[in-house]
Amino acid sequence: MSDCLFCKIAAGEIPSNKVYEDDQVYAFYDIDPQAPTHFLVIPKAHIGSCGEITAENAGVVAHAFAVISQVTKELGITDFRVVSNCGGQAGQSVHHLHFHVLAGRDMTWPPG
Ligand code: ADP
Repeated sequence: MSDCLFCKIAAGEIPSNKVYEDDQVYAFYDIDPQAPTHFLVIPKAHIGSCGEITAENAGVVAHAFAVISQVTKELGITDFRVVSNCGGQAGQSVHHLHFHVLAGRDMTWPPG
């Protein structure tokens, strides 16, 4: 999508601090970290949110989780949280599917 912030980041049109990239996904550090380690993993192809995952496009989600497992290992992280906010009431502000990966501090449950 031409006006999507994360599509532009994945395409390299807006700078970001890259953690990982392949043909399907892009991962980069969050600009406003909520934990000592906080990065985002996004599909390169535009999917608006978890609510737009279908049988046809779900493969990239499995791949994103394999990437999360790989990258956390490379960063020496064993304990982490993965979050995806879907819709405004859940706190989603950027309407391109993304998985927050947070680590490096104690976390509480339930989330606020
Ligand atoms: P929220 O903004 O409430 O966390 P989301 O779940 O939609 O909602 O998360 C969007 C995330 O994208 C935020 O954590 C925000 O800090 C991050 N973000 C926004 N713009 C950028 C950017 N240019 N580079 C890196 N991270 C960004």
